[in-house]
Amino acid sequence: MEEMTDINRELMLDANATAGLLTEIFGTEMTASPTECAGCGNEGAIGELLAFTQGPGIVLRCSACENVVLRIVQTPDAIYLDARGAVYLRLAR
Ligand SMILES: [Zn+2]
Repeated sequence: MEEMTDINRELMLDANATAGLLTEIFGTEMTASPTECAGCGNEGAIGELLAFTQGPGIVLRCSACENVVLRIVQTPDAIYLDARGAVYLRLAR
C-alpha cells in the first residue's frame, strides 16, 4: 500500500520542526492557528499538517488528502510563501 503514494515519508519532519520558521515569517506562533485545505476542505491546526523537506523548501501537506497546503522557500534575502493550497490562514492579533 505504501507504494501507492508519491510521498516519501522518510522526508517527513516533525510539525514542530517548522514552528520556528513559521514564527519567523508570520511574527506570531502559528502551529495552533487554524487553516483549511483548498483540496478537500479539511480544517485543522497548521501544526497538524504533514511537513516535508523537498529540495530547498519546506512543504506542508494536508493530513487528510495530502494536498500541498503551504510551500516555503528561503533564499539568502527573501522568504517565498506559496499558500495557494489553503483556503485561508488565520493569524491571531
Ligand atoms: Zn486536504
